Amino acid sequence: MSLQTDVLIIGAGALGASLAYEISSTTDLSITVIDMEGVPAFHSSSRNTGVIHRPFYLDPVSKKVYAESAIKSYGPWKEIAYIAGLPWVQRGVMELALNESDIHVIEKYSRWAMQNGMDENEYNLLDEQDVRKLEPRVMAKGAILSNLDSNVSYGSMVGAVMQLAQNNGIRVLWNIRAERIIEGERPIVACKSPNGEVNIKTGLVINVSGGGAYGLAKSLGLTSGYSELHFRGDYWKIREFKGISRNIYTVPRNPGYPFLDPHFIIRPDGQMEIGPNAFLVSGSYAYNGTVSEILRSFTSPNYLKAIRLVLNREMLKLIWNDWGISISKSLMMRRVRKFIPSLDVKHVKGRGTSGIRHSLISREGFVPESVVMGTSSTVHVLNFNSPGATGAPAFARALLSKLSNLYGVKLILKKHRVWDSLIKNDCNIELKVNIFY
Ligand SMILES: Cc1cc2nc3c(=O)[nH]c(=O)nc-3n(C[C@H](O)[C@H](O)[C@H](O)COP(=O)(O)OP(=O)(O)OC[C@H]3O[C@@H](n4cnc5c(N)ncnc54)[C@H](O)[C@@H]3O)c2cc1C
Repeated sequence: MSLQTDVLIIGAGALGASLAYEISSTTDLSITVIDMEGVPAFHSSSRNTGVIHRPFYLDPVSKKVYAESAIKSYGPWKEIAYIAGLPWVQRGVMELALNESDIHVIEKYSRWAMQNGMDENEYNLLDEQDVRKLEPRVMAKGAILSNLDSNVSYGSMVGAVMQLAQNNGIRVLWNIRAERIIEGERPIVACKSPNGEVNIKTGLVINVSGGGAYGLAKSLGLTSGYSELHFRGDYWKIREFKGISRNIYTVPRNPGYPFLDPHFIIRPDGQMEIGPNAFLVSGSYAYNGTVSEILRSFTSPNYLKAIRLVLNREMLKLIWNDWGISISKSLMMRRVRKFIPSLDVKHVKGRGTSGIRHSLISREGFVPESVVMGTSSTVHVLNFNSPGATGAPAFARALLSKLSNLYGVKLILKKHRVWDSLIKNDCNIELKVNIFY
C-alpha cells in the first residue's frame, strides 16, 4: 500500500501529539501521524512519574531548553486537563536535603528557580523543623518546597491532545512501524503493519519516536559520535500509608546522574508509589527481565561500546546497586527509609509500571539536553528525556518555528482551541538544530 502526506510524524507520544496539534493549528499542510502501537502514549509518555514539573532543579545553562519548555508548558497542560476533564492534582514537590552538604544544593535550586522564571511566591526553603511541621513522617536537614508541581495522567493528557489534532483534520495510523527512511526530495518511509508493507511518501519526516528515534536517525548516518543507553525505571505501589501529602524527592546523590534517586509520589488517583530506580537494560522496550537482562546488557557489542564511552567506576557502582534494587523491594525500601523512616517493606503492595529512559551518550558523557538533527527532508529528536513530558507543548512550538525557517513551512494561524499563548508566539526557546545536507 502507498500513501502520500505533506508531513509525516513518527511517534504518538507527548512530543508527537504536541507537534501534530501545533502543526495542524498553524498550517494548511496534510499531516499523518504513525505509531507502532494501537494507542497514543503507550511508552515513556505514560510510563513515567506523572509529574508536571516546575524547573527549580534544572541548571539554567546546561538544561536551558528543558527549563524554558517546562515553564512555558505548565499553562497549556493545565488547559488540556481542564477542557478534557482530566485530573490535575497540585500536590507540589518537596525536594529534601538529606545531609548538611545538600543544603547548599537546595539553596542553589532556589537561585535556579528564579533564573528559570519561577515566581518567588511559588517556592520556599525549609529548615529541619519546617519539614517536620509540614510532613511529620519525613526526615531531612532541610528542603526546597515547590508548590505548583502537579500530578497528572500523561497517557490521558496525550490522548486528549491527539484528539484535538484529529479534530483539526490530521490522519492517524496505528500499529504501523517505520522501518526505514529512503531519502530523496520527497522521502519515502517504509513501514510494516499487520496487513503488510506500507510506503509513505512525504515532504517532511519528523522522527519523534522516543525509543525508536536513535535507530532511525542512525540508519541515515546522523548519529556519529553518539551512542545510546537504556535505563529502566521501576515503581513499587504502596498500600495505605497516611500522613504524606506531597511528592517527596531528594537531592541527587550524584548530580551527573540525577535519575538514580527514587522518589515518593502520589498518583492523581491517590495511589502512592516509590521509584523509579535506574536499571540498565539492553533495549528500548525491555520492560521485563532482571538477572538475564543484566547479562544480556553486558554482552551486546553496541552496549559494551557505549558503556566504555561513559561509565566510570563510580557510575558502574551506582548502576550495580540499582540492579539490586530492581530485583529486591527491600533494597529499594532501604533507600527510601533514609527519608521516610516509618515506611516499611510491609507497605509494599506490588509492582507499579516501568518506564524506559533512552539516554544519549557522547565522549563527554550523558548529553544533558535533547538533540535535534536533520537532513534536507527529515528531522529527528533524540534524548527527549525528563522533564520532556512536561515540556512537550512548548518544545513542539519552538521546533515548529525552526522548521518554518529551515524548511520553509509556511505558518498561518488557522484554527486553535487551546494553547493560544503558545500558538501566537514561538516561545523564544533557543533550540539548536544540526542539519546535514
Ligand atoms: C521512569 C520515567 C519517569 C519520568 N518521569 C517524568 C515526569 O514525571 N515528568 C516529565 O515531564 N517527564 C518524565 N519522564 C520523561 C518523559 O516521560 C519523556 O520525556 C516523554 O514521555 C518522551 O515523549 P516522546 O513523545 O519523545 O516519547 P514516547 O512517549 O516514547 O513516544 C514515542 C512513540 O513513538 C512510537 N514509536 C517508536 N518507534 C516507532 C517506529 N519505528 N514506528 C512508529 N512508531 C514508533 C512509540 O510507540 C511511542 O508511542 C520520565 C521518563 C521515565 C522513563
